Amino acid sequence: MKGAITLDEINAASQAEFVAALADIYEHSPWVAERAAAQRPFLTLAQLKRALVVAVREAGEPAQLALLRAHPALAERAGVTPLTAASQDEQARAGLAHCTSEEFASLQSLNARYLQRFGWPFILAVRGPRASGLSRREILDTFARRLDQPQELEFAECLRQVHRIAEIRLDERLRFEPVLGRQVWDWAQALAAHSDAAPGTLTVTYLTDAHRACARQLAHWMRECGFDEVGEDALGNVVGLYRGSDPAARRLLTGSHYDTVRNGGRFDGRLGILVPMACVRALHASGRRLPFDLELIGFAEEEGQRYKATFLASSALGGTFDARWLDQRDAQGVSMREAMQAAGLREEDIPAIRRDPARYLGFVEIHIEQGPVLDELDLPLGAVSSINGSVRYLCEVVGVASHAGTTPMDRRRDAAVAAAEIALYVEERAKADRGSVGTLGMLQVPDGSINVVPGRCRFSLDLRAPDDAQRDALARDVLQRIGAICAHRGVRCSVEETLRAAAAPSDAGWQRRWEEAIARLGLPVHRMPSGAGHDAMKLHELMPQAMLFVRGGNAGISHNPLETVTDDDAHLSALAFLELLEGLAGECAAPTRT
Ligand SMILES: [Zn+2]
Repeated sequence: MKGAITLDEINAASQAEFVAALADIYEHSPWVAERAAAQRPFLTLAQLKRALVVAVREAGEPAQLALLRAHPALAERAGVTPLTAASQDEQARAGLAHCTSEEFASLQSLNARYLQRFGWPFILAVRGPRASGLSRREILDTFARRLDQPQELEFAECLRQVHRIAEIRLDERLRFEPVLGRQVWDWAQALAAHSDAAPGTLTVTYLTDAHRACARQLAHWMRECGFDEVGEDALGNVVGLYRGSDPAARRLLTGSHYDTVRNGGRFDGRLGILVPMACVRALHASGRRLPFDLELIGFAEEEGQRYKATFLASSALGGTFDARWLDQRDAQGVSMREAMQAAGLREEDIPAIRRDPARYLGFVEIHIEQGPVLDELDLPLGAVSSINGSVRYLCEVVGVASHAGTTPMDRRRDAAVAAAEIALYVEERAKADRGSVGTLGMLQVPDGSINVVPGRCRFSLDLRAPDDAQRDALARDVLQRIGAICAHRGVRCSVEETLRAAAAPSDAGWQRRWEEAIARLGLPVHRMPSGAGHDAMKLHELMPQAMLFVRGGNAGISHNPLETVTDDDAHLSALAFLELLEGLAGECAAPTRT
């Protein structure tokens, strides 16, 4: 392994020295460093990584394929491709040198099938998202899963794994440890030990034992980090306050949720609690006080899993907690009121959760993207421009159930075919907009039979767009077309609206602060809407807000155990938050800026 090098040395090196120093960061491919050299000087390590990524992105497919083929197969012994020292070290750390003979045989067979299917070796950053090494089980599971992917998706995933391998090598070459990111990662891992479900499955729904354990754990960590006040409110929100130097100044509010969907991921919601915690820990350790209070809320409920009361926790801040929710019962018949009493929470204290917006500067939320966009762009962070507005309907098409053998094609009133035509139109219409999405989620033919033309078809319809006008135009066109399709086919359709949520465009000032923070890290600023709803939507009704998105691995999959974030990306999100805080501190010192 080569010796350590600093960013200053990298910037000051001659072209030849630069290439020599970084030639082996990309396996057997010094051309990547050669092409990135002209981009110097690099402001940050993140910017250097980005330049290398861009060199590969712009190299074209033949060069990218050659880069993949320059990698050894997993657990390859004296093979055709010589193992570099770095590769050997990484594979040994993942325990691949100690495979049992069955595991070794299984890897060899997967390698052969993979190579035959795709034409390049299976590439996986075996050091993993925490750089501490994946287990052999994780490696084999990932291998088996990716073997079934479509060709172009797998090609892109391999390139991302190549970049992750390079990132870990660069971190070590520059003696850089993403300490804040690793702290966040380890907390997320430890928090995931509390689950309503069997070990290995993460489910934390409102006020279960696991949920209460998470609240206690978060409060404990907040105290350890140096928050001056830590408490729990009447709904189970965990609230930490890191006091600023000026008690009269307005506060900054941040946070996200700690409940999960069933069989969810470790970072959804939790990242937005743990990253600010890590930042306060660092600020407190260095004795830094901001000129304003920083208030962090771990919201108790966002996912609407146990009770149909999504966002109940953040609703209470704006005083829109609906008291009727307390009478709702879960699948076991336990009412929310009973669950609260069992948890020792006092219903009469709910009104006190309400916040006075005049006391606050605004709300910022850090959240995993939960989509593929940043991962595809190879960007660790994105500035959210808007949270999409949505409208949902439950629909039922009623036609005539008739004999599948005896009803001629021109005499049918097929409810399912009408629904299919509607689905195709929703796809076409949503595609025509910038940023709109439309989905027929639940599709059912009640009491359907193999030899019966469907007489009924039920479906759910979910339409979203970056602003309310665009959403309403989309909904109007879709509903109009549903009417036309049904009239033409001689069927009826009932449409029931079940949810309407206003879009929450980011506040321009707060979005700009995130963008400036991203730019100061040396990263390109990418603006994007959020397709998913977040606590920030509720806070939007109360104060200015803007969100920061963090790239999720595995093509951004979320609400799934495969959801993942790297230690480096979590670290960058913490640095961005610190930049935002310091930028804001600067604004407080120079109050002329608006
Ligand atoms: Zn979430």
